[in-house]
Amino acid sequence: MTTDGGRPGEAEGSSPALSDRRDERPRSREPQPREQLSRVPGPVSGGASFQEMWRELAPVGRHRETGGYRRYAWTPADADCRAWFRQQAEARGLTYEADRNGNQWAWLGDPTAGDAVVTGSHLDSVPDGGAFDGPLGVVSSFAALDELLARGARFARPLALVNFGDEEGARFGLACVGSRLTSGQLTVEQAHRLTDAEGITLPRAMEAAGYDPDALGADPERLGRIGAFVELHVEQGRALDLSGDRVGLASAIWPHGRWRFDFRGEANHAGTTRLEDRRDPMLSYAETVLAARREAELAGAVATFGKISVEPNGVNAIPSLVRGWLDSRAADQVTLDQVVGGVEKAARAYAEAHGIDLDVVRESFTPVVEFDHALRDELTRILGAAAAGGDGAGGDDGGLRVPVLGTGAGHDAGILSSSIPTAMLFVRNPTGVSHSPAEFAAEDDCVAGVLALADALEGLACR
Ligand SMILES: [Zn+2]
Repeated sequence: MTTDGGRPGEAEGSSPALSDRRDERPRSREPQPREQLSRVPGPVSGGASFQEMWRELAPVGRHRETGGYRRYAWTPADADCRAWFRQQAEARGLTYEADRNGNQWAWLGDPTAGDAVVTGSHLDSVPDGGAFDGPLGVVSSFAALDELLARGARFARPLALVNFGDEEGARFGLACVGSRLTSGQLTVEQAHRLTDAEGITLPRAMEAAGYDPDALGADPERLGRIGAFVELHVEQGRALDLSGDRVGLASAIWPHGRWRFDFRGEANHAGTTRLEDRRDPMLSYAETVLAARREAELAGAVATFGKISVEPNGVNAIPSLVRGWLDSRAADQVTLDQVVGGVEKAARAYAEAHGIDLDVVRESFTPVVEFDHALRDELTRILGAAAAGGDGAGGDDGGLRVPVLGTGAGHDAGILSSSIPTAMLFVRNPTGVSHSPAEFAAEDDCVAGVLALADALEGLACR
């Protein structure tokens, strides 16, 4: 595919007009299904178009050997994803624009009218990521729109589909850069300092991809025109698989943080130093890893030492320093404090026993994100009513249940929730595996997600 030359603020393509609920316009101004959509069979057109789009996007940025995706921000693979988004928008006659922070938007109706309903996710990936984290939400957004047009939906509010830039932070080390910039949670100065492993700064990378980095910055005016944001995402856990539901609603994003544990001992010869003479920080680090597991199990939380650095890092040397990073997440702040406090207490006891100095530094922290209760209640009602009509969005038994679950993963929806009413839909992931080529969702479940999203958008945006 070709690269996307979209500039911030650029708007192209004509949009099918829609009637504004504050302005009773004639019916002829309602969105009309375009010619290219007419080949999609009904009534589940969202399902058919989903499969077609999924096949198109599947090879983009896929690594031949690992089978994983390497769609990093502002790389050629990312440009191909962006070109795909723009092409999907223009094929439907939507108004396409890339905003000042490089997020892509496709509008049905007047982008300036206000009170818009927005849905979407991201197309970038972690290193060797799966196919579903992000793209499922973007592809489902287009498919849900197709489904609504096939239903002859009459829109009362503008609808926008969005692809947020650089959600995973794989290249510059900070997640949700596009939504953080837009919501003002990342300043322009901070963004300018972001640098990739090759020393390329974010502004230079954006410039190379054809975007104007001078335009970066908070966009309150844009957020002010949005009445609700709904992000559909593959579940990154097994709650839906265990409950037997295809689709669920998010309650909250767990509070989470990263803590650095520095265990300092004494470097010495691995062959000649008697065991009783050693001050080996690896021992207290190893015991701390086990303590983290124990504390997390006791509290029903998660705690992970996934990154470590060792000095001098020689196979025949007792280490002088072991630095381990703890990532911990829990359903609430009290539990998280309890887990991390427990791990630190254990680490101090082990360090003392081995004559090791220990420093613990909190490197980052994100408090709990509660999604908008009113929007969630409204979506529960909408999806419950739709499931009662038997369109497959509910449980396997066609019941009314729309489970509400918390998540330990961060999302653009979490970032935006401090600015606008936000909700998330999760689609069942049978293994719970994510950020890996093994990430998976069954096609039936994806289609159920598309229909649930279509129901949600219809309930929110249509009369
Ligand atoms: Zn994601």
